[in-house]
Amino acid sequence: STGRVFNFAAGPAILPESVILEAQAELFNYQGSGMSIMEMSHRSKEFDYVIKKAESDLRSLLSISDDYSVLFLQGGATTQFAAAPLNLCASPDTTVDYVVTGSWGDKAFKEAQKYCKPNLIWSGKAEKYTKIPSFDSLQQSPDARYLHICANETIHGVEFKDYPTPANKDAVLVADMSSNFCSKPVDVSRFGLIYAGAQKNVGPSGVTVVIVRKDLIGNAQPITPVMLDYKTHADTLSLYNTPPCFAIYICGLVFADLLKQGGLVEVEKNNAKKAGILYDTIDASGGYYVCPVEKSVRSLMNVPFTLRQPELEKTFIAEASKEGMVQLKGHRSVGGMRASIYNAMPLAGVEKLVAFMKDFQARNP
Ligand code: PMP
Repeated sequence: STGRVFNFAAGPAILPESVILEAQAELFNYQGSGMSIMEMSHRSKEFDYVIKKAESDLRSLLSISDDYSVLFLQGGATTQFAAAPLNLCASPDTTVDYVVTGSWGDKAFKEAQKYCKPNLIWSGKAEKYTKIPSFDSLQQSPDARYLHICANETIHGVEFKDYPTPANKDAVLVADMSSNFCSKPVDVSRFGLIYAGAQKNVGPSGVTVVIVRKDLIGNAQPITPVMLDYKTHADTLSLYNTPPCFAIYICGLVFADLLKQGGLVEVEKNNAKKAGILYDTIDASGGYYVCPVEKSVRSLMNVPFTLRQPELEKTFIAEASKEGMVQLKGHRSVGGMRASIYNAMPLAGVEKLVAFMKDFQARNP
């Protein structure tokens, strides 16, 4: 055995074994350079190749046109909660709209209050964040500069399956895609701005991918810190200061691996299959396991579920862990269990989990 476990963590999360092994093989002496990527100048020709290849592979994966800049930034998706309004709103008086379908969207909305005038046009809080609104029912502000969504709520397991269109034709759609980035094809042209922390689907923590339409760059509010201004990074190909070189390198290996798998159409098929057998097991358990999320908007990435007998949850998690299935505890804010089944989770991991779930139910009726 390799000693590797099935890691169901929400992030930092499982990465493809092939990528870890490739990084290991190249770690000590990267392609004959005599040093590792971690020790190498971000201005070296080796790293220049790494970051450009990562960008071009990501552009291929998501069919990103030249109308968009692709940036590799630091500060996590949380920093983008501030960067989005600072870059897209001309002044602190600018109106924007937020649809809040979980606690990450709520955090983004609250941060935006410092830099613009966000309207909370829909919140799923009263229904414990188990739903996505119908787009027709949204009361969008006529003067909104953008409409912000969180495409997949990591904690609550609620995922947009389609995207709303901003009502104001001058407005753009902004999405936090941290936890479903590169899990399926996305029509980037529908968005003005997409951002994603890497540490769920595409790499280690430390790098945040930003995809921003070029005409939106260069209008940041005057108080915007230089590091939060997209223009700073777009003008320098993400090399204004020292970037998270190693994290970008790993993302590059992941992007290449996703292309090798046949691209995001194939990746989505695998993800749908994995999520399908897990949700089917939950739904066929006669209420023993429960997923509270409305069926049509259940996440393919994060599957929250509870046990009818909550007193058994500790045992469930401990026994699963003993069998090499780790990090199944739900987020502290919602309790229960959560299985994060990102791109890199093999089908075998989900099959093992559902076999364990059926066995656990039989042993603890
Ligand atoms: N948005 C979503 C959807 C997330 O899942 C997370 C992290 N769990 C964040 C934002 C915050 O990301 P970071 O920790 O990279 O700041």
